[in-house]
Amino acid sequence: MILDARTGLIDVTYIIAIVLLILGLKKLSSPATARNGNLLAAVGVFLALGITLLDRDIMSYGELALGIAVGGAIGIVAARRVQMTAMPQMVGLLNGLGGGTAALVSLAEYLRLSSIAPVRGGEAVSVVLGTAIGAVSFTGSAVAFAKLQELLPGKPVQFMMQRVLNALLVAAIAVLGAMMVTGNDTGSTPWFVFAVALALGALLVLPIGGGDMPVVIATLNALTGIAAAFTGLVLDNEMLVVAGILVGASGTLLTLLMGKAMNRSLGNVFFGAFGAGAAVAVGGAPGAAGAPKTVRQTTAEDTAVALAYARKVVIGPGYGLAVAEGQHAVRELAQELERRGVDVKFAIHPVAGRMPGHMNVLLAEANIPYDELVEMDQINGDFDSTDVVLVVGANDVVNPAAREDPTSPIYGMPILDVDKARNVIVLKRSMGAGFAGIDNALFYRDRTRMLFGDAKKSLTSLVEALRSV
Ligand code: NDP
Repeated sequence: MILDARTGLIDVTYIIAIVLLILGLKKLSSPATARNGNLLAAVGVFLALGITLLDRDIMSYGELALGIAVGGAIGIVAARRVQMTAMPQMVGLLNGLGGGTAALVSLAEYLRLSSIAPVRGGEAVSVVLGTAIGAVSFTGSAVAFAKLQELLPGKPVQFMMQRVLNALLVAAIAVLGAMMVTGNDTGSTPWFVFAVALALGALLVLPIGGGDMPVVIATLNALTGIAAAFTGLVLDNEMLVVAGILVGASGTLLTLLMGKAMNRSLGNVFFGAFGAGAAVAVGGAPGAAGAPKTVRQTTAEDTAVALAYARKVVIGPGYGLAVAEGQHAVRELAQELERRGVDVKFAIHPVAGRMPGHMNVLLAEANIPYDELVEMDQINGDFDSTDVVLVVGANDVVNPAAREDPTSPIYGMPILDVDKARNVIVLKRSMGAGFAGIDNALFYRDRTRMLFGDAKKSLTSLVEALRSV
């Protein structure tokens, strides 16, 4: 009876937690509700964790408390220290740890269960998939982290017979898995599955260029979710199954969205070695080889005059705004312009910055109202009626080569069509390239003026200059 009541309480709590997770995810789809969504999902996870600890005799509470204290302390220090610009690596790393955990839990549960009775059939399938997918996600994420952190070269690392080797590793996992499923585990078989999958994860990500890392991290995120769902099946834990499926599904959607935003198909990302031949062409000819190039510079004072007399201004932020930590300065500028009756909008490119939603998070930190943030697809039709576009620390996401130059490595990537505005003012420190390492023809166009300097300093000077216009 007591057992029934306890099981009932656990089931109901799991259902509440699942509903909270789903509602939380739903609210994450808009910046206006994202904070609440995060909170709801956190409450859901907290409930699920709490009730699981009450439910299961996993290990002593002392050991659990020690694990939580050590892990929590590392997490708090890492999250506090990480620079906004290093978020993608951090997300990649945490995601990899999730995959590694799923793999180890699957493996440990298999070892425990098989010491009682042979494990085969469907249960063994879940163990093999949970272990293999989790391990691939672990080392794949570790390599993605190392690339983004510049511990490994960002360029694709390629060697002979790479794809053949990968195919052999997949085949090895299939054979070893089949041995486990049919009850022919030699004792070390699950460890071999784990080891081969670890090697596969690293080898799959090594040949992918840094430019594709956002898509890769989203894919690995989906894999971690799927690994967790299989681990949930092994543990017979519905909560983990549902949470894993949610992560797997949202990771898959994010992968597709990121792929679309960067015009990269998944096959192309994983087997295309983006960046392998992308020479750094900074200072090279924009358009025809050898064409004369003129860069027109401007000053904060001249820019302030152009802004003060504009009716419609669009600000296109990019990675450089995050580097300069200029989000508060750009808010001040927008407010100053709005006080003068200028219509100000922010154009948000889906892969501006270095992580999905980077610009949304950055601008939200400075309390820029959500209704001023306009997604690329919505704002692109407005540029030809825009008086001034301020490109702040963005480069690749405003490079017209993506639209016009079929030989460009970013050709086909949707961009903010800022070059269609009447005046374009670019705030950056130099003529240096962006993430893709290529020249930007926008900087040499007749309607473009360059305002060189750190974005935060330039924005602050603009606000001051504007106040005296
Ligand atoms: P880019 O990386 O193309 O360009 C950023 C520009 O910012 C640089 O050209 C740099 O020029 C300038 N900059 C750097 N520091 C400062 C500063 N302190 N003040 C002013 N300017 C500065 O950024 P975008 O946002 O345009 O494009 C994002 C790129 O990153 C895309 O190629 C995308 O595919 C890729 N990517 C996106 C991810 C995502 O999930 N969003 C993840 C990983 C990659 P200078 O040195 O001259 O100042």
